[in-house]
Amino acid sequence: MNPITKAIRIQTERTNEMEHSTPMFLTSSFCFDNAEDMRAAFADESDDNIYSRFSNPNVDEFTAKIVALEGAESGYATASGMSAIFGSIMALLKQGDHLLSSDSIFGSTHTIITKYLPKYGIEATEISAGATEAEWEAAIQPNTKMIYLETPTNPGLDILDIEMISKIAKKHHVLLNVDNCFATPILQTPIALGADIVVHSATKWIDGQGRVLGGVVVGKKELIHEIYLFCRSTGPALSPFNAWVLSKSLETLDVRMERHASNALFIAEQLESHPKIASLKYPFLKSHPKYSIAAKQMKSGGGIVCFDLKGGLESGKKFLDALQILSLTGNLGDTRSIASHPASTTHAKLTEAERAAVSITPGLIRISVGLEHQDDILNDILQALEKS
Ligand SMILES: *Cc1c(COP(=O)(O)O)cnc(C)c1O
Repeated sequence: MNPITKAIRIQTERTNEMEHSTPMFLTSSFCFDNAEDMRAAFADESDDNIYSRFSNPNVDEFTAKIVALEGAESGYATASGMSAIFGSIMALLKQGDHLLSSDSIFGSTHTIITKYLPKYGIEATEISAGATEAEWEAAIQPNTKMIYLETPTNPGLDILDIEMISKIAKKHHVLLNVDNCFATPILQTPIALGADIVVHSATKWIDGQGRVLGGVVVGKKELIHEIYLFCRSTGPALSPFNAWVLSKSLETLDVRMERHASNALFIAEQLESHPKIASLKYPFLKSHPKYSIAAKQMKSGGGIVCFDLKGGLESGKKFLDALQILSLTGNLGDTRSIASHPASTTHAKLTEAERAAVSITPGLIRISVGLEHQDDILNDILQALEKS
């Protein structure tokens, strides 16, 4: 079966009620018929469910679908994207190891890497998202154990060449861990390009309607087993309710991403030469500096469009205030279009130089293009641009 079909058809085994849609298994633990079955489960001799911190049917259904979509061997789902990222790093690295990461990464990931890893004796360096092959290779140290990257990046929409970086990782026997949140497995499958581990915030496009938090990590069986053991003891388990919601969402991910991307491409094309906009970025516009890499590794440009207002910081705030349909909220990947202004919100604590280093200019606006009619999204942005 095609992975798209699997994302629809993988389902928990039917109960005696003969339900068509997966029921919710809101239970913290599971029963055994006898002492021997219970002993075997606790001894890891059977796959029987024991406790929902370890496994749960709804969580397993969701994970199996992501494993199929990403072309992975195995997976483990977590309470949020950040717990998936944290678990994937902490389970596989130890004191004295070195992590090499791109500098264009999600804010909380940057905090883990620069603030918390050093506390545990794990060294970390960040390299420019635009680094060349030679620069990536030169940044590898004898103790480097993992390369971490995100592409397309949030919020700058930089594109990194997964295949090129995976070749370097393989040559130096270093694990490659890719945050695939922005592309989703519908548009990009990093494992096919050489990644060992893929992490997701399921909160975004995977949920798709801004309802629940969730995360998932997939990859090689032995690596995921280590991550599973770490998580089963430290406790960032995904709630069965959230897993049920997310699993239902995966049934429509393919069709949703197609419309998000066609709406986003339309918005990007219509706004590219607008007089109030200094520059606009969308991975599938020929004007994107990494268009050829995006076209090589992604099926479409995804649902995020970024542009830089000529008027800078003040224009950015006026633009947000003038919007009538688009939501002002910190999330992305929703049916409802969302506008955000990183310089005055998510990235306000950084210095202007630090923001510039990760492609965040004072007038940068990030649009998460929703599923409303494309004309309504465009018209709201156009009228807000007039007032910015
Ligand atoms: C939101 C996000 C995360 C964090 O996910 P949560 O579910 O909020 O914990 C990680 N990476 C990227 C690229 C994100 O956009």
